[in-house]
Amino acid sequence: NRLIIAVDGPSGSGKSSVCRAVATQFGADYLDTGAMYRAATWYCLDQQVDLDDEDAVAVAVEELPLNISTDPEHQIICVDQTDVTEAIREPRISEAVSEVATNRKARQLLINAQRRIIDESGFIVAEGRDITTVVAPDAQVRVLLTASAEARLRRRGLQLEAASGAAETQEALRRQVLERDKKDSKASNFTEAADGVAVLDSSDLTFEETVNSLITRIDD
Ligand code: C5P
Repeated sequence: NRLIIAVDGPSGSGKSSVCRAVATQFGADYLDTGAMYRAATWYCLDQQVDLDDEDAVAVAVEELPLNISTDPEHQIICVDQTDVTEAIREPRISEAVSEVATNRKARQLLINAQRRIIDESGFIVAEGRDITTVVAPDAQVRVLLTASAEARLRRRGLQLEAASGAAETQEALRRQVLERDKKDSKASNFTEAADGVAVLDSSDLTFEETVNSLITRIDD
């Protein structure tokens, strides 16, 4: 009797912290699929794989010695013996990750790995871009967590930097966020909820309100 909570959403929608909090409260496992794409990207860069070489990227992802914990309170990601938990958050990874995410073979390999992790768990909160639609469309709870570009910028604290700059700076940052969304939506369309997927817009909600709104859907 497995229970799967699938949450998709764009970067900066707050889904990682919301999903970790929900998993912790319920004593469930937690899977950050974005971290898997990031770890795969880290490995490709470490192995000096040319990201434009689709086959080479696919081969690297096939042999990727990934170890990801599903403990929502201690998320540790290792590639071989190297702890890459922090390294995968570096800007160089964020900038390159879309190249791996749009590689069809690499994507399929990572989707298979994600399904194995979900299958092994009895109760899991899994988040990403295509969990509600591709990875686990059979999940009992399927939610698309959205937030306006402004809200996502605000949460990243980028607005602080922008506030000290000119109006053009803010516009440039806004464009950056939208550009990453656009790159991502080529790989998976997460901006529109599929049939049976509930939209949770967190733009005007606090963190606690967003967590509670998700919990309500699980309790139902
Ligand atoms: O969630 P996060 O921003 O860490 O994800 C990093 C990148 O991984 C995304 O920008 C996207 O390109 C890719 N991704 C994906 N499918 C997922 C999760 C992440 O394509 N299910």
